[in-house]
Amino acid sequence: MAEVVSNKQIIFRDFVTGAPKLSDMILTTGTIRLKVPEGSNAVLVKNLYISIDPMIRNLMNKMDDTPTELTYVPGSPIIGFGVSKVLDSEHPDFKKDDLIWGLTGWEEFSLISEPHIRTLYKIKYTDVPLSYYTGILGMPGLTAYGGFHELSSPKKGESVYVSAASGAVGQLVGQYAKLMGCYVVGSAGSNEKVDLLKSKFGFDDAFNYKEEPDLTAALKRYFPEGIDIYFENVGGKMLEAVLENMKYHGRIPVCGMISQYNLEKPEGVHNLMYLVKKCIRILGFNYIDYYPKYPQFLEMTRKYIKEGKIVYMEDVLEGLESAPEALIGLFAGRNVGKQVVVLSRECE
Ligand code: NAP
Repeated sequence: MAEVVSNKQIIFRDFVTGAPKLSDMILTTGTIRLKVPEGSNAVLVKNLYISIDPMIRNLMNKMDDTPTELTYVPGSPIIGFGVSKVLDSEHPDFKKDDLIWGLTGWEEFSLISEPHIRTLYKIKYTDVPLSYYTGILGMPGLTAYGGFHELSSPKKGESVYVSAASGAVGQLVGQYAKLMGCYVVGSAGSNEKVDLLKSKFGFDDAFNYKEEPDLTAALKRYFPEGIDIYFENVGGKMLEAVLENMKYHGRIPVCGMISQYNLEKPEGVHNLMYLVKKCIRILGFNYIDYYPKYPQFLEMTRKYIKEGKIVYMEDVLEGLESAPEALIGLFAGRNVGKQVVVLSRECE
């Protein structure tokens, strides 16, 4: 008879409008049988780390279109990326004690089946911190790689601007760009983050956007000859200011627009005519597009980490109960580096 254990969970209460609140995410304790039902093609995991990502806020919106495999169900645990250890498996690709990363639940133990099981990767290298598979070697890392290396066609000597630059994606984009021989400037929302961009991540320059009354003028100061690549993470007023400062034939990979996620009515962008005047290429993308590139991204990025050419900063919180506050904190810029929550350190 398989053991039944208690299972702490964070439950998604209901669809959210405006900023997420603690009451939207309910801490509860259920039970779980530590055995995968026979023939189910599922895995049972113990969650070790969960990744706190802005996308979770977007998934809390009521979707008007057809539900996707990621659509949230009120009353169920919040789904997000994480690093987990397999306790039992009925799936041919995974066996007991495998370490994996991919979509899991905000809970101590998860039974993962279709469709989320398709997002699980077996962790090949354990000579880096396992938590890196929520960040630099996981979804945010793949996003940085896809959006910068695959989508932006960067060239040595080009000028690159990264917003939300000290975060999970931004810090890596800036370092990839430096390794390509680009001139790189980042913006962030505190002076502590600005210092980190310059001293730890090697950006050529950085500024605190909250202290700039005129973003267009600020960008002109840092890029007197214009921006070749803008890695877009925030949207809104920042995008407006960037458009005016782009170079002819500039590129804007649109990774995210975090300034818009909590607004009930998104802001408009008023100077889109620059797209035409300057022949700017602007293109949204999603990490999912780059799953086929994961192996080459992993080899390249891990090599850079091992050689000390790329560093990564995490903001680590302890315990499942800290996850809701951590998610809310992303929208106030409270995280310094990739926000991750530790549930268990048993595999460190
Ligand atoms: P993150 O940067 O680690 O955390 C979010 C940061 O955004 C905060 O720390 C804060 O930093 C900044 N921020 C919050 N509200 C803001 C506002 N109103 N205006 C300007 N900045 C604000 O998050 P991340 O995981 O790296 O994600 C960065 C962006 O990439 C997000 O837009 C996210 O949705 C997107 N993303 C897209 C994909 C994809 O597949 N397309 C995948 C992953 C992430 P400051 O202190 O600097 O303000």
